[in-house]
Amino acid sequence: MERRDFLKGAAAVAAGAAAAACGMKGSGGGGEGGNADTLSAERNLAAEREARMPKAYQAAPGARMKLSWKPYELQLSHPFGVSGNTRTSTPDVQVKIEFDGFTGYGEASMPPYLGHTTESVCAFLSKVRLGGFSDPFRTEEIMDYVNSLSKGDAPAKAAVDMALHDLFGKLLCQPLWRIWGQNPDNTPDTSYTIGIDTPEVMREKTVEAAGRFRVLKVKVGTPNDKASVSAVRSVTDLPIVVDANQGWTDRMEALYEIYWLQEQGVVMVEQPFTKDRLEDTAWLSERSPLPIFADESVQDLDDLKACRGAFDGVNIKLMKCGGLLKARQMMSYARAVGMKVMLGCMTETSCGVSAAAQLSSGIDFADLDGNLLISNDPFEGVLVQDGRITLNNLPGLGLSIKK
Ligand code: MG
Repeated sequence: MERRDFLKGAAAVAAGAAAAACGMKGSGGGGEGGNADTLSAERNLAAEREARMPKAYQAAPGARMKLSWKPYELQLSHPFGVSGNTRTSTPDVQVKIEFDGFTGYGEASMPPYLGHTTESVCAFLSKVRLGGFSDPFRTEEIMDYVNSLSKGDAPAKAAVDMALHDLFGKLLCQPLWRIWGQNPDNTPDTSYTIGIDTPEVMREKTVEAAGRFRVLKVKVGTPNDKASVSAVRSVTDLPIVVDANQGWTDRMEALYEIYWLQEQGVVMVEQPFTKDRLEDTAWLSERSPLPIFADESVQDLDDLKACRGAFDGVNIKLMKCGGLLKARQMMSYARAVGMKVMLGCMTETSCGVSAAAQLSSGIDFADLDGNLLISNDPFEGVLVQDGRITLNNLPGLGLSIKK
């Protein structure tokens, strides 16, 4: 065969293969056309298919993002007690990013013990200039810029990240869980927290919660741990997780208490010691019959790397790590090194809770009850049905504004 003939033949074979890969009934590699009827039918089919294809979103020329925010005090339905303090409201800042007629929502919640304030959040947000970005799909580039503006300010950064992702999902007209390939049937039960109180009040709160939730969380780390857990256990058989909020001091006593908690049907322990006591925590994790999860010890990915080996799992919260992008990185790292993953929240509206819930498919524990603790939630989002986190089909974070 002449070289020229060989090249002709090879080109014909390649064209035939490409047509087959696209599912087309091609005209073959021989250069002969099909009959006119067949070609016309194929063209009609292609046109019909194209008409059914959703068109990729195109922003209006010159569209720019606009960030705005307003302080919003979250009112707690019941005074909330944890090791060290009790409170009746939580400061919060609600954030919006508007772009081309769409609005993405986010929020920064600031439990007082973390040191952030409404003023610090607003001061950070006033530094953020999103007007220079014309493409809201470049979430990584935009959040790199936002994260570069300061070292801390995780709640404010989380608020921008959330609003950006809500917008992102709305522009694509899909919920984030679907964009990220999550199975909505694999979402976990959320625990519901029974705050520290007298045994009588804790029993009442447990009976009230036991009909709606399938996992209960009890705050321990006080001299009354056994009374608190016994009060809850006396009125329910549901599994219990406990959170010591850094409240235990002696590691041997902690180990004895964990064995007792196991006998009470407790299934997990969160943050036994102060956040920097990693060696004591590693000692405890090695001996504990229950998994030990980090909360206060891990704010971000660097903390998580430092805690590898000391804890069995990590409680990731958007307000600690600075948003969904960071949370996804932490989840990937935790899974890669064999740590369990829990998603938690602060006292938040359905905005923050629904954002975290987008990542909840397949995780080990969820503590996403923050929106259920407040009386002035401006949003409806993911729901808890029969104790389980239930994702919806609304785009972005899945939010609608309450009338
Ligand atoms: Mg905790």
